[in-house]
Amino acid sequence: MDKASSIFVAGHNGLVGSAILRKLRAAGYSNLITRGRAELDLTRQVATDAFFAEHRPEYVFLAAAKVGGILANNTYRADFIRDNLYIQTNVVDAAHRNGVKKLAFLGSSCIYPKFAPQPMHEDHLLTGILEPTNEPYAVAKIAGIITVDSYRRQYGLNGISLMPTNLYGPGDDFNLQTSHVLSALLRKFHEAKASGAPNVTVWGTGTPRREFLHVDDLADAALHLMLHYDEPGIVNVGVGDDLSIAELAALIRDVVGYEGEIVYDTSKPDGTPRKLLDVSRLHATGWKAQIGLREGIERTYRWFLENPSD
Ligand code: GDP
Repeated sequence: MDKASSIFVAGHNGLVGSAILRKLRAAGYSNLITRGRAELDLTRQVATDAFFAEHRPEYVFLAAAKVGGILANNTYRADFIRDNLYIQTNVVDAAHRNGVKKLAFLGSSCIYPKFAPQPMHEDHLLTGILEPTNEPYAVAKIAGIITVDSYRRQYGLNGISLMPTNLYGPGDDFNLQTSHVLSALLRKFHEAKASGAPNVTVWGTGTPRREFLHVDDLADAALHLMLHYDEPGIVNVGVGDDLSIAELAALIRDVVGYEGEIVYDTSKPDGTPRKLLDVSRLHATGWKAQIGLREGIERTYRWFLENPSD
């Protein structure tokens, strides 16, 4: 891939796609192709095919997906499996039939079994039952991995599959019904501070552990792996370190400067007890995350303040 290569960033309005686009622009890539959902619906095979046949991108970052936090995943189960299966199947097949030189598929750490040994190594894929709250999404992403590998084996498509841990950063979803925990808590603490509320409610018990990667680090890793990694199977993209939801809540409370109490709503699900990635394969490629969690949360909070949503 060189600076003049044509590169399609699928999903460029989302958290991941927008970060990849920023990264590519900053690194001097000038032939970038993007399409909003209104212009190109990737769940439609005919439209996806026509787009690839017309533009013939050389490289594809497949960051288009239906994503959400624990509540959205658990509520819109049919939508999560359907949209993700459609999008990835259409894009991978069109990439193959239109001569794409390389494709990077973005998955998620929820593809691993609910009780996988920690940290979770790439070899733990398909070794146990999945977490029920996001099983439809996880099954779709696992199908995406197998799709990419199958096109590699049968047709020689140069596809790689990256499995990021929980992501956060500018462009995140701050809607409390659909968001992941980090952005949700930033918003909750911010609003509680502004209104003088005596406490903030955190879902679940506070004991589940999660790992968080700033999306600018993920974008940097995605470019690095597009340039330097060519293996079948999957590669984890994380920081190799985690904390409990209670510790995360305390950190966010501190960053926001809120002085009230934290209360736990144990009627809400905890989800997977722990999701920490083994990042030795990633580190062996010469890449390591750079943005510390506190610094990343501070940057995200500034972005949230400058980009108010409703
Ligand atoms: P998960 O990593 O797929 O489970 O997705 P989430 O980021 O949505 O949730 C991670 C953990 O944070 C779960 O144990 C949630 O119950 C917990 N959590 C605590 N408060 C919140 C909240 O306000 N929103 C969300 N989405 N999760 C929360």
